[in-house]
Amino acid sequence: MSTSVVWIRNDLRLNDNIALTEAVKNLGEGDELLLLFHIHPELIREFDLQEDYFFQTVRTFHESSGPLHFIFGEEEEAFRSFFDTVTDAEDIYFNKAETGFGKERDERVLPVFEERGVRTHTYIDHPLHGAEEVTKKDGGLYQVFSPYFKQWQKLDKPPVVKLNTDKMKQHLTDRSGDFADGEEKYRELTDAPLRKWEEVGEEAAEQRLTRFLDEPIYYYDEDRDIPSKDGTSLMSRYLRTGAISPRTVYHRVLQETDGRKRQDGVESFVRELAFRDFYHMVYYNHPEADDKELTEKFRGIPWNEDEEIFERWKEARTGFPFIDAAMAQMNESGWMHNRARMAVASFLTKDLLIDWRKGERYFNRKLADYEAASNIGGWQWAASTGTDAVPYFRVFNPVRQSERFDKHGDYIKEWLPALRNVPEKYIHEPHKMSEDEQKEAGCIIGEDYPAPMVDHKRMRERAIEIYKQKKD
Ligand code: FAD
Repeated sequence: MSTSVVWIRNDLRLNDNIALTEAVKNLGEGDELLLLFHIHPELIREFDLQEDYFFQTVRTFHESSGPLHFIFGEEEEAFRSFFDTVTDAEDIYFNKAETGFGKERDERVLPVFEERGVRTHTYIDHPLHGAEEVTKKDGGLYQVFSPYFKQWQKLDKPPVVKLNTDKMKQHLTDRSGDFADGEEKYRELTDAPLRKWEEVGEEAAEQRLTRFLDEPIYYYDEDRDIPSKDGTSLMSRYLRTGAISPRTVYHRVLQETDGRKRQDGVESFVRELAFRDFYHMVYYNHPEADDKELTEKFRGIPWNEDEEIFERWKEARTGFPFIDAAMAQMNESGWMHNRARMAVASFLTKDLLIDWRKGERYFNRKLADYEAASNIGGWQWAASTGTDAVPYFRVFNPVRQSERFDKHGDYIKEWLPALRNVPEKYIHEPHKMSEDEQKEAGCIIGEDYPAPMVDHKRMRERAIEIYKQKKD
């Protein structure tokens, strides 16, 4: 008789969770199963929308999983104290982190497990393909997405794993009484959410996917660029928290889409799942990417340090409606459309010449779907400093983006109430309204909505010149 511990992390689900499924499979007669969540101080250093959404998912998981035990503190101390309490723990199971903070934390805590004689069982569960699974012929890792994707498509995808729920329930142990401090911390973090989140947890993820597979997926290739449309899967928040696994998403796409309908959308969607794995692999291969430009020649760009300019971008006060709508969407809802992410990241780094790291960190605070690998990848792409990035001379025009992807201004009007009555012909550039038109629209430029904070044409030229100097 012994206790097996399953350390739940960013895999907040019962279905298709490899570590949990394996732990349950290996339980013998009389063995106990203890579910554990470790609250690391680093995870809650800044408690903003990102952390709030994550901990609301922890809460939803807790409501369906049965007893979940919480420990709090730096990993080595917290786990030593845990094993002092659960003295019969012989095995610990978890889905390991291959990148970033999670990887470093895992490396620090493994010796504690060893020291206590606890057997460690780890699995790759967060990406569809682990970082070292998709390789070139010579075994090396890819730098560019297209060849990576070709190889990714050729590989068999790992199957969905099935949890024996009855067996799990029979073995689950409740020692919550021994972990009152951790429980208190958990309550502190979850009792008063910062906003009302409607889409949280495993059930919500499955339902959302069902809706997406029903129809929108067939038009995904076209609709995914229009922020006012509900044309994307919204899977990112669930994939990030682990409320759904990428295997489940992938296999459900294959099984539930109708081969007689349009396939362009389906193929385009699967390609994006591969993009998630690609950025995961890039970050694994380049752990320095969170802080360093991957294109070395673009290191040391003379970024603008003016905090007031950065604040205007953050607070949706740039005077470019498409950019401001996007920032308002993220600040209020914890999510931003992909097209808008590209536009605001380009605007910050090229038009304002503000360090991409600042933007990356701001997204970290606000995005419910924040994944370090994808976010760093997205930012380095936009700043033209990544492995497979937008060329430095291709600077997004914020007005053109608006005209192309939000033609009638529906997205702008949804997120910027001040512009709701602005006529369509001015919606992308409201400062061009005459004084009378401003009065009529109830939108006085400079009072209700700002004039553009920069001249895009000039800023574009300046950015290109700076990048060019760095390159040569
Ligand atoms: P869908 O369009 O339905 O795509 C399906 C899934 O594919 C997504 O859930 C996501 O897991 C994956 N995916 C799609 N596009 C990308 C991409 N470009 N890179 C990597 N994976 C992708 N995505 C995150 O999950 N977390 C982030 O922190 C993040 N930060 C970003 C920052 C910038 C500057 C940019 C340009 C993109 C970022 N993305 C990030 C990628 C993308 O914007 C989101 O994955 C997408 O908007 C999520 O919405 P969705 O689930 O409806 O996506």
